[in-house]
Amino acid sequence: MGTYVEIQIWSSQIEKAREIINEAFSAVEQVDRNMSHYRPDSIISELNRQSGSSYKIHDRDTFQVIKTATEISKLSNGAFDITIGPLMKLWFSNRNQNMLPDQEAILNTIQSIGYKHYRLDNQSQTIFLDLQGLQFDLSAIAKGFAVDRAIEVLKKNQITRALVNAGGDLYALDPPPGKSAWNVGLRDPFDQNNIILEIPLVNSALATSGNYENFFEVDNKRYCHIIDPRTGYPVPEIASVTVKSDSAVMTDALATTFFVMGYPEGLKMAESMTNTEIVMIACENHKITAFVTDGFKTLKKLMKPLTISKEMKIAVCHD
Ligand code: ADP
Ligand code: MG
Repeated sequence: MGTYVEIQIWSSQIEKAREIINEAFSAVEQVDRNMSHYRPDSIISELNRQSGSSYKIHDRDTFQVIKTATEISKLSNGAFDITIGPLMKLWFSNRNQNMLPDQEAILNTIQSIGYKHYRLDNQSQTIFLDLQGLQFDLSAIAKGFAVDRAIEVLKKNQITRALVNAGGDLYALDPPPGKSAWNVGLRDPFDQNNIILEIPLVNSALATSGNYENFFEVDNKRYCHIIDPRTGYPVPEIASVTVKSDSAVMTDALATTFFVMGYPEGLKMAESMTNTEIVMIACENHKITAFVTDGFKTLKKLMKPLTISKEMKIAVCHD
């Protein structure tokens, strides 16, 4: 999954705790083995290679993740789309050559993606494709699912105080003794050493999608790794979206979704969902603003100022 996974648990039995942690890591590795499109032997790679008209997905988890992703695609009118693969390739294969793909290539590539080009049959766990060569990429959701899987292992072993963190996709159970919550630092997207807010977490998930995670710059403009499937362009004008919700699979996918939807649509969708709170840091008319859902309004008062430099503003806030 291209990231570090950290598991913290509280237990009085050190040996047993080690075994439990190992079991939780195995669950994470299994998700990676099945769902990473970077591994040639994964289920997703096999699905991408065969590119026929239907494919039976033998693993229940993988089918479940595709199903959840598809529901979010529908809810977001295609802002979230796991068939984004060819657009990612188009934008990121030239990243070292300091050039952008041309408009025609972008428009052509849009034609080869889209969640409307496949359909799922739950009974047979089969995916039916009506477009040859559709390519699946679960990067925006699989990490969250892996975190949930690890948490399940911990719970099954009666661990109650724990935190699982897969590079910023995290789930917290009860806090360490004497603490009221796990306080998770929210980074300033313009200076990642600066923690602008601490978000208390107990039995819930948190994830951030940021334009600083993976990007390239051409002519002083930043192009990030989250692409709007409808325009074919990396999303401009959003620096980060942090989502708190009930499961890590949802926070992971929704952080990407709201990032693409931007302001005000993303914020509106978040407001309409139960147990979902977000912090969205956006460049609106070249002004940096942090938007939050109602449940985070009190928390926002504690937020430290952001530290954007003039150069960074030019790079990030382009149209
Ligand atoms: P990170 O992996 O940095 O935590 P995300 O969870 O937001 O960030 O996932 C970003 C990845 O998701 C991209 O690298 C790409 O593979 C994929 N992706 C990009 N745009 C979209 C999109 N609109 N819908 C679904 N997946 C996307
Ligand atoms: Mg995500």
